[in-house]
Amino acid sequence: MNIQKKRAERITQLPPYLFAEIDRKKSEVQKKGIDIIDLGVGDPDLPTPEHIVHRMREAVANPKYHTYPSYVGMLEFRKAVADWYKKRFQIALDPETEVLALIGSKEGIAHIPLAFINPGDVGLYTSPGYPVYRTGIQFAGGTAHAVPLLEQNGFLPDLEAIPEDQKRRAKLFFLNYPNNPTGAVAERDFFERLVAFARENGVIVCHDAPYTEMSYDGYRPMSFLEVKRAKEVGIEFHSLSKTYRMTGWRLGFAVGNREVIQALGKVKSNIDSGAFEAVQAAGIEALSGDQACVEEMRATYQKRRDIMVAALNRMGLAVTPPKATFYLWIKVPDGSTSAAFATKVLEETGIVITPGNGFGPEGEGYVRMALTVGEDRLKEAADRLANLKF
Ligand SMILES: *Cc1c(COP(=O)(O)O)cnc(C)c1O
Repeated sequence: MNIQKKRAERITQLPPYLFAEIDRKKSEVQKKGIDIIDLGVGDPDLPTPEHIVHRMREAVANPKYHTYPSYVGMLEFRKAVADWYKKRFQIALDPETEVLALIGSKEGIAHIPLAFINPGDVGLYTSPGYPVYRTGIQFAGGTAHAVPLLEQNGFLPDLEAIPEDQKRRAKLFFLNYPNNPTGAVAERDFFERLVAFARENGVIVCHDAPYTEMSYDGYRPMSFLEVKRAKEVGIEFHSLSKTYRMTGWRLGFAVGNREVIQALGKVKSNIDSGAFEAVQAAGIEALSGDQACVEEMRATYQKRRDIMVAALNRMGLAVTPPKATFYLWIKVPDGSTSAAFATKVLEETGIVITPGNGFGPEGEGYVRMALTVGEDRLKEAADRLANLKF
């Protein structure tokens, strides 16, 4: 039997996995005995803070957490999320109806199109961006329409430029600030225009915000829900992955419009059975316990950012230090392409960076560097880059 031929179009039409090509080249270079410094994947290198791990150890031994979880999340976890939003953004959320636990925010992002998209409907998403926006829309049978993020617009989407017919057919709009991969941030005036756009066109806003706590120089990104009437038009996805270095634990949440939350919950109740309650207990500890670990995280990445931005600028690559996220979005030298430059850097220095077009064709001409190694290794990477000829 030819299994390949039986695969559904939603699988065969997928773009190649973002890191597949770079992984292949990386192992080629590794085989030559070159020491690799991996600045490719956006996964924090530091361990989860000890007090969170400690709470997990206790919780995992407690039989009350061993049964099927409630698919919306433990009420105590949803209360901890609501309290955190109140403290951090001064937004009041009803933990019963406006908060939903997720098995990592990726899970909710991938599933929400199933709640709203019919075949033929359009889902808007910003590009370059997290690949799941597009595939989530397509898996639901929708048409994914990329809204480009251009440097001259501060990597914010030009809402006026979205074609009339796409706007009319659009049901969802995925956006993400602070932004992966560009490191851009959005301010109140943009979010206000976004809410007006959503109201005018009847589009549900799905704001993906896992990097609000990873910010520098005292800057504090805002929540989309802080602007007036935002809760009428959408939800915000959030995650414990980046803030508390818990990528492997799989815990996130969605907050905002109760009808959107309810619809997403309905999809989830038919697919998964919720996050392990011991992980939710650890999540409560993360959100409501000592926040010193978050301050340490910011200080760590800020130092790394400054080391690498200075090194890149010395090389003649103009990079503005991002106010948030642990990504540097670097324009490749004139005459090069994303793939050619990333390959050259890998082959000549052993440093893995991600070609920008892996985040969508709109990312062509850039590479992304994730600041996910310690200061010593990052300085080593900077020294190697200083010798790169281009
Ligand atoms: C890391 C990341 C996520 C999701 O993380 P989870 O671990 O699934 O919570 C979502 N969106 C963006 C843009 C990310 O970079």
